[in-house]
Amino acid sequence: MELAFLPVFILVGYLLRLKTALLPFSVGYLGGSLLLSPDLDLRGSRAARRWGCLRVIWWPYALLFRHRGLSHHPLFGPLTRFLYLGAWLAGLGVLLVRLGLQFPPTLWAWLIPALVGLWVPQLLHILLDRL
Ligand SMILES: [Zn+2]
Repeated sequence: MELAFLPVFILVGYLLRLKTALLPFSVGYLGGSLLLSPDLDLRGSRAARRWGCLRVIWWPYALLFRHRGLSHHPLFGPLTRFLYLGAWLAGLGVLLVRLGLQFPPTLWAWLIPALVGLWVPQLLHILLDRL
């Protein structure tokens, strides 16, 4: 459902001349809608199943957070998922750097719009859950 609002945000971003942020925002928005849904607090949710075989990384999260509890809080819910996934990605990043991979400098320019893109659909999800 949150995906239906993405064209509206793209149009607003375009009208506000935030063109360089549109791609990272959109990528983040898609990720926030499809992969980082608040419903990751349910082990068998659609969002969890979209992770494929990697869905096992969300099983501890589903054990820690009851459905529509803290995971559905507008501020702390996304924060818990960002920190949880960030811990996994940090571990992967350290491994990749040790293997000699260098991250492109544009990665950091993408960070803020991508994080905003991740956050907005989760807020919409929480709002729509309450309607
Ligand atoms: Zn929900």
